Amino acid sequence: MSSTLASLGAAEKQDHPEWYATRWLSGGPEPSPIDAVDSADPVDSAGSVGSADFAGPGIALVAEPGHVNSFLVVGSRRAVLFDSGMGIRPMLPTLDRLTSLPFTVVNSHDHFDHRGGNHELSEHAADIAVHPAASHGHHAAPADFYPGYRRAAARAAALFDQFAALDRQGPFTLTPDQFPRPLPELDTWRIPAVPPTRVLLDGETIDLGDRTLTVLHTPGHSPDSICLWDPETRTLLSGDTVLSAAYWAHQPGADVAAFAHTLRRLDQLGARRVLVAHNLRAELDGDAVRRAALAMTEVAEGRTRPTPDTDLLGRGVRRHDLAGVTIFTAPGEQPR
Ligand SMILES: [Zn+2]
Ligand SMILES: [Zn+2]
Repeated sequence: MSSTLASLGAAEKQDHPEWYATRWLSGGPEPSPIDAVDSADPVDSAGSVGSADFAGPGIALVAEPGHVNSFLVVGSRRAVLFDSGMGIRPMLPTLDRLTSLPFTVVNSHDHFDHRGGNHELSEHAADIAVHPAASHGHHAAPADFYPGYRRAAARAAALFDQFAALDRQGPFTLTPDQFPRPLPELDTWRIPAVPPTRVLLDGETIDLGDRTLTVLHTPGHSPDSICLWDPETRTLLSGDTVLSAAYWAHQPGADVAAFAHTLRRLDQLGARRVLVAHNLRAELDGDAVRRAALAMTEVAEGRTRPTPDTDLLGRGVRRHDLAGVTIFTAPGEQPR
């Protein structure tokens, strides 16, 4: 990459120093005439997309670009925060700008990158809600998690810089809100144990006032994975169960056959859109579920020809690429 292109990338990053990028994906406050002028750039990284007296309904993205996407679903009486991100920066001030309603934190699963904010938010949230399979989990992240994540983030950022430099030579597809947030000094970053206070069963509903979310137990990526379904807008909040990029089915607790079964079940919902936890596209069309279900079924039934690869953490995986869907499985026996 030329130094000119590299410095252009750096300038973009400096224009958006806020850790969280928030955006109303549906609903949200009516735009004022001034907001309407600014609407060409839908992300306000300074966080002024909402006001404290706004009371929904709507769904807001609370992104840590390049890391994790969390989502705030606001009803007329209550709100749900689906995942609490990395815990690297305080999230509460950002949430306060989006809603003043009481909220419950629902964690999609017990991986550190989806519950890092639980420690900060537990005093303010009505509950920390999880699937029963995680109710005795949510332990503190081990000491080696942090340097491992730093290496992974640095590797992802370096890849992105190459991509951004190429993008600026012609395609120009990237928007400033997509630039990954560089990790700050992490000496004080800790993800402590925070015991969940509520369990959510498959089929259970969460009443937010004018809308009701349905909990779906979706094992596969992990035994405790859950998705939330908003039938009103036919929106699936998918955690790591539906993604735009590599499906991680290679970690301890992952189960490819269960993953395929889960995705086929989710396909029956007829989702109009899927809100996903990773990568730079937070919103996918409903067809993403069908593509994933077909691909995961091929993998589960042993009909693919994987190649050796490594995940972002440098661990060996079998990589399956099928019609735009990438799936990682554990090295060793081909699942059957
Ligand atoms: Zn995960
Ligand atoms: Zn994840």
